[in-house]
Amino acid sequence: MKIVAKTENNDIATVYVARTQQGKLIEFVESVQPPIPRSEKWVLIISTLFGCPVKCKFCDSGGFYKGKLSKEEIFEQIDYMVAHHFPDRKVSIPKFKIQFARMGEPVLNPAVLDVLTEFDQRFDAPGFLPSVSTIAPVGCDSFLDRLLDIKNEKYLSNFQMQFSIHTTNEKHRDWLIPVRKWSFDQIADYGRRFKTSEDKKITLNFALADDNEIDTNILLRHFDPEIFLIKITPVNPTFQAEKNNLGSKIIDQDRLEITEKIRKAGYGVIVSIGELEENQIGSNCGQHLMNYLNQNQKPQGAYSYSLEKCEECQ
Ligand code: SF4
Repeated sequence: MKIVAKTENNDIATVYVARTQQGKLIEFVESVQPPIPRSEKWVLIISTLFGCPVKCKFCDSGGFYKGKLSKEEIFEQIDYMVAHHFPDRKVSIPKFKIQFARMGEPVLNPAVLDVLTEFDQRFDAPGFLPSVSTIAPVGCDSFLDRLLDIKNEKYLSNFQMQFSIHTTNEKHRDWLIPVRKWSFDQIADYGRRFKTSEDKKITLNFALADDNEIDTNILLRHFDPEIFLIKITPVNPTFQAEKNNLGSKIIDQDRLEITEKIRKAGYGVIVSIGELEENQIGSNCGQHLMNYLNQNQKPQGAYSYSLEKCEECQ
């Protein structure tokens, strides 16, 4: 793997664009969350597919799809970033989170499970916190069953599971995420099997565009607040979001009203807005690769840090 470009603001995040040995482009990110220093929390966001076949309406990963990364190609991303800061592969950070979430729906690639299984043979990282986020495409049953076993064996109490559903309106969910998916009841059933008393609650993620509803009655009909919590994120300024007119609903007043309603319904709520600068660096969901391929055309409010095509990092 060769790094072909990167953006950088060491205080927040670095996005890397790399060419694999197969000659395909991927990207991955390392970030910190100010004011928490890297020595306490470090987050890596890695790719699992070359593009994504799901084509969610707000995500630039779906612009193309060229197959799955191998286990080694997934490990290479982690290894590159770890080796930069910890050449001995000993990551002595209490919260070392890796999100399998940059480019690609992770449950479409069984190599993700192999990485989770072998991680402790490659790195000495007692604070490792894996985070898997899925839209739950139909056919993901055997992946998610195996994931549950791996979690129970290796990551009990230290695993973040997320289902990205984005709206409680099923019709609108089908438009936003245009593949066949598990129903809310199937997700709820899996949640009951997944969460033991030691596990973290499972996250239901809503990237809250202007038309995305969160109806607490529908939530309560399906999802037990003892098992699930609600995370609200903005729709990031990606090429796809711009093309599909998906503006973000997260402005102060709306945020207060929605979060208050959800809390009253009994759910824990996380509002994850991130730094405005993250949009400019391109470290949020959305793909700097598209910026790279589109030669620095950019959606409004995004990707304003230029990609350095750097010799020294190749
Ligand atoms: S949001 Fe996830 S599932 Fe949807 S297109 Fe992007 S990478 Fe694929």
